[in-house]
Amino acid sequence: MTCLFCRIVAGEIPAKQVYADDVALAFLDINPWHRGHTLVIPRRHVTDVVSDQAALAEIAPAIQATAELLIGRLGADGINLLSNNGAAAGQEVFHLHVHLIPRFAATGGFAAMAAPDSDIDLDEVYQQISRS
Ligand code: AMP
Repeated sequence: MTCLFCRIVAGEIPAKQVYADDVALAFLDINPWHRGHTLVIPRRHVTDVVSDQAALAEIAPAIQATAELLIGRLGADGINLLSNNGAAAGQEVFHLHVHLIPRFAATGGFAAMAAPDSDIDLDEVYQQISRS
């Protein structure tokens, strides 16, 4: 199996998983733009949103549940949803994923989304999201 995200679904590669249901997984992005940057993916291999009519709708409940989690656990004030489709759009992993990028008040709106924060401690963020 060569697809990186299929290998995460199979448990062959570790990920900081924050949500799972029958059709989707959510895990922290290994290189976050902002605190709590999370990827939601379908369990089944789908290349992108454009190539599969059903996939985005299938993972919509997982996107909503993960967004609620990020707001509830991290105190996010908003979330950018982003899906890169095709290399020209910046897609690097060719297994459909939706980026959930938590945003916090007064940090510059949409224009500042792609200006990554530095010094994000993934373990600390994971603990805060995963606490029971
Ligand atoms: P994209 O450019 O939309 O294809 O984004 C791919 C994303 O996957 C990037 O934000 C990467 O940081 C992220 N990524 C790559 N490998 C991993 C991994 N092993 N675990 C979590 N996120 C990853």
